[in-house]
Amino acid sequence: MTPAISKFVFVMLAIGWYLIRYEYARRARRTPVKRSDRGTLETALLLISLTGLGLLPLVYVVTGFPHFADYALHPVQAWLGLFVAIAALVMFQLTHRALGRNWSVSLDVREGHQLVTDGIYRKVRHPMYSAFWLWAVAQALLLPNWVAGFSGIVGFGILFFGRVTREEGMMLETFGDRYREYMTRT
Ligand code: SAH
Repeated sequence: MTPAISKFVFVMLAIGWYLIRYEYARRARRTPVKRSDRGTLETALLLISLTGLGLLPLVYVVTGFPHFADYALHPVQAWLGLFVAIAALVMFQLTHRALGRNWSVSLDVREGHQLVTDGIYRKVRHPMYSAFWLWAVAQALLLPNWVAGFSGIVGFGILFFGRVTREEGMMLETFGDRYREYMTRT
């Protein structure tokens, strides 16, 4: 696999991701939000993550910037990247299907919010974040550039570790013992 093809695979991952999200996001937004824990920190974390997973790799794919950070792509690395990219898309689709209208891009509880413990959520507490980790790993494998390849792991890592405890706190306040018990199983 050449660098041109591996970059193309990354673009396909991004397009597939967008197509999956578009429809689910449209439906979820129709359900009003009852409580939101969004704030300046959440906005900053989202921007950092978007820069690492989207903006920097996009600039690299389109312009080749930053050239100084390029290295030679190993074919095995690129094939692994394709494999992880497919896994990321499958996982992402499964999580959106299971979460349905309870999904939100940030920390929100919707009207009639259901605690989802089925499907992919049966064993994994944060499968959508796992899908984002897979994207970040696919990005690192597919883009042979130290900056544009690894910015996803750094950017999403900051969002993940900055958010997950607060999200679990919000779930505990909303669902109490049901979520506490769910945490012991996942
Ligand atoms: N952390 C989850 C969900 C990410 S989407 C995952 O990685 O799969 C973020 C929103 O999902 C939050 O606003 C929260 O309200 C909601 N959420 C998180 N876990 C949930 C669950 N098990 N059931 C229902 N909603 C959940």
